[in-house]
Amino acid sequence: MHYKQNSTKAKSLIDNYRHKGLRQNLVTTLRRKGIQDEKVLHAISIIPRHFMLDKAFADWAYRDMAFPIDAEQTISMPYTVALQSQLLSIDPEDKVLEVGTGSGYQAAVLFHMGAKVYTIERQRKLFDKTSDLLVDMKMQGIRTLYGDGYEGAPRFAPFDKIVVTAGASVFPDKLLEQLKIGGIMVIPSGNSQKQVMMRYIKLAIGSCKKENHGPCAFVPMLGGVE
Ligand code: SAM
Repeated sequence: MHYKQNSTKAKSLIDNYRHKGLRQNLVTTLRRKGIQDEKVLHAISIIPRHFMLDKAFADWAYRDMAFPIDAEQTISMPYTVALQSQLLSIDPEDKVLEVGTGSGYQAAVLFHMGAKVYTIERQRKLFDKTSDLLVDMKMQGIRTLYGDGYEGAPRFAPFDKIVVTAGASVFPDKLLEQLKIGGIMVIPSGNSQKQVMMRYIKLAIGSCKKENHGPCAFVPMLGGVE
């Protein structure tokens, strides 16, 4: 895979057969853990996650682990990314809002699954760095936004799907308002002691079907910007 050559970063963006092999092993691990959506598994088999990590962790990029990124945030573990993506039941051309761009990995998975992706980040440093990286990786189709995800992205609403990748101790009502009827929102809900992965299916204005998909652990969803 080749990436933008006129960038100083391009030199470090090398994806070789070893990386491809490690990704296939990761896909096998995710299947064993219960991920069945072939679109999710295919996306994971082609996205160079090692580009999205600090060099110090690059050798471990295809282990099913979370790692620190800038601004004291994390890139989620591949299983969690795969589970959230699977729970969204992505259809081609779905308009998807992600809250918590972080490293860009979750956004890249959704993009490779055929979604039109809008992603919001509240940390300026991460927003700048990841916006540049996604362009270097030829994923400029992903629309990156700087702001507070609690506000959603009203300019681009309504969305078919919404995914939140930080733990919400306060329910983001505005996000549900920006979801289409029939749309799906996947969100880790709770505080640092206890979080569960929730899926909301919007049946009508003011009416949702709620499902609990088990325990999870995310950095907190915070209000405002930094
Ligand atoms: N999706 C990311 C990835 O693939 O690397 C994982 C992101 S990390 C677990 C959570 C991210 O959510 C952090 O980058 C954090 O700054 C961001 N975040 C937390 N609260 C937010 C908010 N209200 N609006 C936007 N981003 C937020």
